[in-house]
Amino acid sequence: MWLCHTRKESRKVAESVQVAVAGGCVSPIRLKGHTDHVDVTSGEVRRAFSAAGLPGGVVHVRCNNRRESVCPACSATYKRDARRIVLSGLAGGTSVPDTVSGHPALFVTLTAPSFGPVHSRRSRGKRGEARACRPRRSECPHGRPAGCHARHGDGDPTLGQPLCPDCFDYPGAVIWNSLAPVLWKATRDATESAVAAAAGLTVAGLRRQVRITFVKAVEMQARGLVHLHAVVRVDGRGEDPDDLVAPPGWATTRLVADCLRAVVAEVSVTAPDPHDPAGTLAVRWGVQVDIRPVALDGPTTSGKIANYLAKYLTKSVTAGGLLDRPVRSLAHLARLPLHAHARRMVETCWQLGTDETFAAALDEAAGRLPGRLPGLLRWSHAFGWGGHWITKSRKYSTTFGALRGARRVYARLIGGALSGRGLVDAFGRPDGDPNTVAVGVWRYAGRGLLTDGDIGPAGAGPPVSPAGRSAPGRGEP
Ligand SMILES: [Zn+2]
Ligand SMILES: [Zn+2]
Ligand SMILES: [Zn+2]
Repeated sequence: MWLCHTRKESRKVAESVQVAVAGGCVSPIRLKGHTDHVDVTSGEVRRAFSAAGLPGGVVHVRCNNRRESVCPACSATYKRDARRIVLSGLAGGTSVPDTVSGHPALFVTLTAPSFGPVHSRRSRGKRGEARACRPRRSECPHGRPAGCHARHGDGDPTLGQPLCPDCFDYPGAVIWNSLAPVLWKATRDATESAVAAAAGLTVAGLRRQVRITFVKAVEMQARGLVHLHAVVRVDGRGEDPDDLVAPPGWATTRLVADCLRAVVAEVSVTAPDPHDPAGTLAVRWGVQVDIRPVALDGPTTSGKIANYLAKYLTKSVTAGGLLDRPVRSLAHLARLPLHAHARRMVETCWQLGTDETFAAALDEAAGRLPGRLPGLLRWSHAFGWGGHWITKSRKYSTTFGALRGARRVYARLIGGALSGRGLVDAFGRPDGDPNTVAVGVWRYAGRGLLTDGDIGPAGAGPPVSPAGRSAPGRGEP
């Protein structure tokens, strides 16, 4: 993307670099604009980089979408980054010291309760042969079979579908998804209090000795309910707030696991009751809870956990990515070829979300600020879940932003080396010099990669001023 003096050269370099910038992204964002470098002492402004000299006068930047169904290339990068974020918090690396591998850590899976029987794959024994789905002969109150004797295979499309849609508590399910983020927050807070109590400390006293950090990834189950996988790590507090030191001897994996287990069984948050304007519901975790220590040499090792968490992040809510974008109306929903259960989940979000009193009460319970649209309508395509798919505490490890930033710097370093000039700004100073400030002015110019046909022979912009002789600097999109 560095700038050349002749039109021909400019176009040739730009084309090869644009492919590299877009990184195989199938839906890149096009930006128009430029970046100037300003000398902080004299105030002199020099054009460092401009999209005007590139084909079509635009820069392509990656969409960074996490979903495989939207962009396979960006999704693969997202998955690698997610794996790195999880792994470095357990094994060290990427700004985290290797000593964290000796800190107590737990791998936790928390699920939603049952909202009615669904077809499921149950396996038995080491070879994991499938067992009958739900072996019983009775009927439900709606006259449908209450059991299913099929042995469902892995890809069976009936998995996750209710045995009887009228027995399935759809309102309960979407309310649960809506409140899962606050239930997780309540669980973290209560765990901290429980660990403090077990150590005979106040919460403030505990925080002076120990820091409990986590990374959590969310998986959408086939039944349309979210399912949380988290790594919880216990660190000590050093002299410096940024130190990552071993916790005191009393803070063992066992103690934290016992506290967390007790909290998960007890903790609840309050939701409004859609059937009774004066009533409330208690939102809790389901009975399927798994809390196990992470051991470097045990069955639950860091690498396995990182792969496991990253695996689910790039999946769509439904196969084929039909619900990758918000559902705009019930008429829009009617045009989507969804299976009955997913359709009913979205419809329930719309039924409850258009009841203004209920929707406002639910948003308040979920800690969401009143927005233009109630949360249930905004996130009906995720069955009410409006949280992030991966979150972590600041101290757990690195961030997506830091990993992307490192990639950008690396690409520019390579670019600087290839151009033979190294990385210098528009004043010829080394990249990052405090005497230069980069000011970028960029605006959205569309989506998708411009092809030669779109650009045409006259499409390439004018050559860029000789001032722009370096690789695009800080402030580049
Ligand atoms: Zn992409
Ligand atoms: Zn079944
Ligand atoms: Zn029924």
